Amino acid sequence: MRDEDDGIVLRLADPPDCAGCGGPGLLLVRFPHTWKDGPPCTGGSAPHLQPASADTSACKVLADAGHAKEVDSIREAVLCPVCDRGEPASDRLLAFFVLHEALATSELATFHVLVTAWLAVARDRAVNQHQLDDEFQRWRNGEL
Ligand SMILES: [Zn+2]
Repeated sequence: MRDEDDGIVLRLADPPDCAGCGGPGLLLVRFPHTWKDGPPCTGGSAPHLQPASADTSACKVLADAGHAKEVDSIREAVLCPVCDRGEPASDRLLAFFVLHEALATSELATFHVLVTAWLAVARDRAVNQHQLDDEFQRWRNGEL
């Protein structure tokens, strides 16, 4: 089953294990994700502690390569019956899986609504995770 509207791809067959608990996933969703990379050198809210000239030219190269602009990527979210429990949109989708072992054509519309609601939550989480990763990376680089 595919949903091409937004570049989103659903996979029900053989989804990967959950990255959080290692248990079997129920559903894999792939979706495009665009974020703006923070300004590495000029201005910005996180000025370098040591604006060495060598540093600046390195960052300029990155900026020239589009590093500080919009970055497109594909992200994945796995529906996990353990980790996703407790969030309303996830609970409704999980309940659907419990009730419907096989997906009937007549239930596709319902399924689509549930997946869309869950994906909205999963997307937010993916974005937040990226920001955390990004901050950790900058912290490791001594930029925070
Ligand atoms: Zn899990």
